[in-house]
Amino acid sequence: MEFKYNLPTWLIDKIINLLGREEAERLFETFNKPTLISVRVNTLKATVEEVINELRKEGKEPIVSKIVPTVLKFEGPYYFARSKLIKRGKIVPQEEACALASLILDPKPGEIIIDMCAAPGGKTTHIAELMKNQGKIYALDIFDDRLQRLKDLIKWTGVKIVEVKKLDARKAPKVLGEEIADRVLLDPPCSSSGTIAKNPEVRWRLRPEKIKVFAEYQYELLKAAIRLVKPGGVILYTVCSIFPEECEELIEKVLKRYHPYLELIPLNGPLSPGFLKGTMRAWPHKHETVGFFYALLKKKRSLG
Ligand code: SAH
Repeated sequence: MEFKYNLPTWLIDKIINLLGREEAERLFETFNKPTLISVRVNTLKATVEEVINELRKEGKEPIVSKIVPTVLKFEGPYYFARSKLIKRGKIVPQEEACALASLILDPKPGEIIIDMCAAPGGKTTHIAELMKNQGKIYALDIFDDRLQRLKDLIKWTGVKIVEVKKLDARKAPKVLGEEIADRVLLDPPCSSSGTIAKNPEVRWRLRPEKIKVFAEYQYELLKAAIRLVKPGGVILYTVCSIFPEECEELIEKVLKRYHPYLELIPLNGPLSPGFLKGTMRAWPHKHETVGFFYALLKKKRSLG
C-alpha cells in the first residue's frame, strides 16, 4: 500500500486504525487527487455574483459552496500571487472547511474577539467581515513574515477593527488581561495531516513522534484561551489535522481538567460528527475539502 498510495507505512497503519480499511482507502485515494481551488468572497469589497463573473472572464467555472455561501471552488491552477481579485481584497484564498470556522464562532458586531494564532489571516478577516467591521479583534502571531502577510491581507480586505500583535498567545492572558474576550478562536499550529491532498509533501515531512509535541503545545494554548475568555464566552478550537491526539483526545483532556468550568457546545452538522460527541469533522473523502476538526467550548463561570 505504501507504493500504491505513496504514503509512509506508519501513516497508512494509523489511518486504517482510525477509520477501518475500506474508508481509509477512500481517504488515501483522495490524498492523491488534485484538489479544487477554494476562495472566500470578501463581502466588504465585492458580491459573490461579481466575483463569479470576474472568474468566468478568466476562464474559470466557479461553483458556490453549499456550506459557506461566500466560498467559491473551481479547478486550478490559479496564480494567487498575480490575482487582482486578491490584491483588491475581493477574495481571500481559503478552504471551505476553514471558512466554516468563522461561521461557527459566530462573532457579533461590537464584541471583543481574540484570534490567538491568526496569520496569515484567512479567519481574522472573515471574523471582521461577519462583525460588519464593528468591535475589536486582537490578532496574535509570533513570526514576522507571517505577521506581514496578515497585515497585507487586513489592508487589502478593508478590515478596520483588527489590532495585530506580535505576541506568544500563551502569554496573552498576562499581556492583554484575564477574561476579556467575548469569543476566542484558537487555530494553532498542527501536524496539518488534513491537508495532504493540497500539500503532498506533508506526508513525508510528518513524523509520528511530532504529533505528541503538537498536542502538548496545543494544550498550553488552550489553557491560555480559557483564561482569556469571559465567563459565558466561547472558545472555538480548530485544527487541520485528522489525528485524534490533536483533536478529540485534547478536548477530552481539557474538559476533564477544567470541569465544571467548561462545557462543550454540541455542533450538529453540517459536516460529520467527530469521535467525541458534540465535536465535528470535515473529511477530504466526504466533503471535498481539507481534513478539519472543530470543538466549541463555553466557559460557564469565572476561574476565580
Ligand atoms: N488562523 C490562521 C492560520 C493559523 S496557522 C488562518 O486562518 O489564516 C498557525 C499560526 O500559529 C502560525 O501562523 C504560527 O506562526 C502561529 N503560532 C505558533 N505559535 C504561536 C504562539 N505561541 N502564539 C501565537 N501564534 C503562534
